Amino acid sequence: MKNDNSSIDQHVGEQLSGYIDGELTQQERQRVVLHCETCEQCRQNLDEIRVLRKRIGDTRLSTIGADKWRETMEDTTVRTSQSIGWILFIAGLLIAFGIGLIGFVSESGMSLGEKIMIFAIYGGLATLLFSVLRQRLIERKSDKYKDVEI
Ligand SMILES: [Zn+2]
Repeated sequence: MKNDNSSIDQHVGEQLSGYIDGELTQQERQRVVLHCETCEQCRQNLDEIRVLRKRIGDTRLSTIGADKWRETMEDTTVRTSQSIGWILFIAGLLIAFGIGLIGFVSESGMSLGEKIMIFAIYGGLATLLFSVLRQRLIERKSDKYKDVEI
């Protein structure tokens, strides 16, 4: 009874995904097309696989989006660590300079007023540098969100 219709007898289930992906030979493609014309079951399978492939395609697209986002994140991380590097570098310089300054001021015969003045200038300079760096850091962080919105 199966022999009556060879195209129904051999469902093309395994070849459907190959058919959608265009991996079949001309002959195989024709067999799938002919079979699906007569077989409701395989036609439904074909539709299901098409829907599934479309979803996977959509997933791939959003994965690309995630990759781009991650790249942006990594880029931001690099820039942020560069900023942190600069802060550490300048902080180190200021500390080294400060230690030298303390030694110089404490050994010289400066009056208290002169010492306070020098420390005020030095402290003001340090605060200024830190606030500028901090501002740059914040600006770079907000850049990240601009990139993601695009
Ligand atoms: Zn079939």
